[in-house]
Amino acid sequence: MNKRAWYYIGIVYSLGLISIVASFVTLSSIAFEPQAFFVFTLLAVVTQLIDAEAPHHQLYSPHLVFFFAGLILLPLPVYMGLIVVSHLVEWIHKRLTDSPNLRVWYIQPFNIATFSIAGFAAALLYRTLQADTTVFWSNTAIVAVAIAALAFVLTNHVLVGAALVLARGVSWKDSGALDRNNLQSDLFLLLMGYLTAVVWTVNPWLVAIAVLPLVLIQRALMIPQLMRDAQTDSKTSLWNASHFTKLVEAELERAERFNHPMGLIVVDLDHFKLCNDTYGHLAGDVVLQAVAGIIRTNLREYDIAGRFGGEEFVVALIETDPEEALRSAERLRQAIEAARIEVRTSVTPIQVTASLGLACFPTNGVTLEDLTHSADEALYQAKAQGRNRVVCASEVLVSKS
Ligand code: GH3
Ligand code: MG
Ligand code: MG
Repeated sequence: MNKRAWYYIGIVYSLGLISIVASFVTLSSIAFEPQAFFVFTLLAVVTQLIDAEAPHHQLYSPHLVFFFAGLILLPLPVYMGLIVVSHLVEWIHKRLTDSPNLRVWYIQPFNIATFSIAGFAAALLYRTLQADTTVFWSNTAIVAVAIAALAFVLTNHVLVGAALVLARGVSWKDSGALDRNNLQSDLFLLLMGYLTAVVWTVNPWLVAIAVLPLVLIQRALMIPQLMRDAQTDSKTSLWNASHFTKLVEAELERAERFNHPMGLIVVDLDHFKLCNDTYGHLAGDVVLQAVAGIIRTNLREYDIAGRFGGEEFVVALIETDPEEALRSAERLRQAIEAARIEVRTSVTPIQVTASLGLACFPTNGVTLEDLTHSADEALYQAKAQGRNRVVCASEVLVSKS
């Protein structure tokens, strides 16, 4: 990391520390409710531990709800305690589970500092605009909370965004810190935190119901992920057999309607059993992943690649005539042969080869079943002819007759 980034992090640390100290000096007049502290800290910890990745790399930080509930309801120094404890637990958890996140020591103190600064700024605004700290559901209080929440979000995002810009050299836009959707999500979560605080004062048990929308959001966020999981092969992330079939059958229908050609390649690694026996099954898996990567990078965006289990891959080349399909298959064969795959069980990188069978629509078949059968026969020929080669189904037919 560069010098400017370190200076910046140092400044944020100092401001965080000043906020924590200042919270004791200025704003600790509210009565301390230990139960509220324990419950909000616990809920913040739990929501921090259950990660949900929102689609399109959007940020989703449900723990903000409880940070803000704590900010509204608790004396400011206690809010600071909530921030420190929940970040500490998250850090310990990530360490124990060997998670790649938070490996770097300065991230978590940085997060604590930004939440302390943002919390201090928001509390200062809120308590200036709404002097009576015992009534916080009046109209004035709602306006004050909205302004304070906005200040909290902006402060936090600007502080984090600047760190990304300085340390990783990304642009403000790419950092996503000031992305409207991200700002809005966080703002709404904070306002949910306000409602949670209000609900707490009515009856603390009601909080159990107030947090249910978070469960629904979590579930909704998981749906795209679950759908994707059902369509892909977990080892290589290529399409699994059933989804590949669905996609290619739709393409075949289109090809038939518009009279477009299409190529289907079946790829089978050569002597893969030997590779497993020599380097171990785990190394074999690494090879499969590497080959899947090669297939992916060698295809065009609209081509379709799948793994039907085992060490057999299938590739559909959309709108591709036989000559071009043969060239693509040959390119793929060469790329696999040229790859040097690093595995733990071997000092020198592993080299593998593959045999490829190619069938073309409509010459070698019109249904996916026929095409797969033709490509399989061609593959068989490629193996018989000595492996590490491409055989086209048309050649098989010629040699049969
Ligand atoms: P050939 O050149 O004739 O294809 O020889 P081969 O050894 O590759 O023979 P075959 O294709 O029949 O062997 C498939 C081997 O692939 C057997 C199995 O141990 C291995 N294999 C299948 N699925 C997996 C997997 O998910 N991971 C690993 N590591 N190996 C697998
Ligand atoms: Mg094989
Ligand atoms: Mg095989």
